[in-house]
Amino acid sequence: MRDSIPTHLNNPYILPDGSLNVERIRQDFPILQRKVHGRPLVYLDNAATSQKPVQVIDALADFYRRYNANIHRAIHCLGEEATNAYEETRAKVARFIGAPSPDCIIFVRNTTEAINLVAYTWGRSHIGPGDEIVLTEMEHHSNMVPWQRLAQEKGARLRYIGINHEQCLDLDGWPHAYLTERTKLLAIGHVSNGVGTIHPVKEMVAEARRRGIVTLIDGAQSVPHMPVNVQDLGCDFLAFSAHKMLGPTGVGVLYGRLELLVEMEPFLSGGEMISRVTLEGAQWAHVPWKFEAGTPNIADVIAFGAAIDYLSQLGMERVRAHEMELTSYALSRLRQLEEIVIYGPQDISQRGGVISFNLPSIHPHDLGTLLDRFGVAIRTGHHCNQPLMRRLGVAGTARASFYVYNTFQEVDTLIEAIDRAQARFRGDNAR
Ligand SMILES: *Cc1c(COP(=O)(O)O)cnc(C)c1O
Repeated sequence: MRDSIPTHLNNPYILPDGSLNVERIRQDFPILQRKVHGRPLVYLDNAATSQKPVQVIDALADFYRRYNANIHRAIHCLGEEATNAYEETRAKVARFIGAPSPDCIIFVRNTTEAINLVAYTWGRSHIGPGDEIVLTEMEHHSNMVPWQRLAQEKGARLRYIGINHEQCLDLDGWPHAYLTERTKLLAIGHVSNGVGTIHPVKEMVAEARRRGIVTLIDGAQSVPHMPVNVQDLGCDFLAFSAHKMLGPTGVGVLYGRLELLVEMEPFLSGGEMISRVTLEGAQWAHVPWKFEAGTPNIADVIAFGAAIDYLSQLGMERVRAHEMELTSYALSRLRQLEEIVIYGPQDISQRGGVISFNLPSIHPHDLGTLLDRFGVAIRTGHHCNQPLMRRLGVAGTARASFYVYNTFQEVDTLIEAIDRAQARFRGDNAR
């Protein structure tokens, strides 16, 4: 089992009570030592990208210093070491998400590319005129726009599951109002990056699969933050990004059920993805290499392996527990602020480590700018969720999002900075 975690006795990252040793974890993140505008950095923009521990930074440098070579065809020592490290990461990723085989793991650039790969290959050959694709109104643009393009090209139809007053999916008409004989695909996010809602994806996937509908989960906000097991979820595809889970930018993962991957056409074509080429045509390499045309992002994939090791050592249950505690504390403090509007469900078990809010007296961009003066990094705007923002009736929100290195004191700093920003803003407006 993935979470057969070493006990705290031999694991420096775990406190005797079983929780994360955040002070110890913070020592691994050099960027957390820096100051911003003369103040300690409080990094609360983890839903956009996470910071990286020395283990990941070192793995990246170590590859370039010691065994940089192209992979898969080299018979020399460096090529072999690079190939082994690259393929080892594939096996680590497979174990991390409970995939039955490393062959189900395809390396791409990011979540966006993983979803596009499915749209361009599986989608192009399985979606036809009148077919239906079911999404939700809460999807990130990356899990919306590729399907809109596909639907337009094929004359297919999109159906969107709406949301209720707590920004949870409105499943009143589910499944009959959404899943019909024409439905070919259910593509849904696992955790909303906009408001933090965790969707009941396992139940929804089961309902879809009973009807023979293919399922894709956008795991960009779940895989980094909680235990995710593809065999437990039962999905056909899962997409996520390394850079949101302590890994480098430029690496994404597409998990696919092997039977589907085997019969899918390649996405990009050229080198690395063929088994034989003649002047007339080519035969494809086996899965997963069929989908990895050209020299891949070898260095970053290898460094991603170090990120997986790091998270595995922490244990994803503990990561989730830590974020729940921080979120719960932050919500209780934020709720005391006058006139604040906080989006997403009240129930902490239904939300990830993302808190989206608005203060009627300050535009989110102004708030973000003022918080930055206090060293506090949050994100403001539409969070690649324009349809969701439209549904909420706002142009954007302020969003604080947590990860393994965030502390309760940082939440206090956030609240204090918001207080000061509000006071300052009232003053400015009065003047
Ligand atoms: C960040 C994010 C994406 C896009 O990830 P990229 O790495 O930018 O491709 C997609 N979906 C969700 C839910 C996200 O949070």
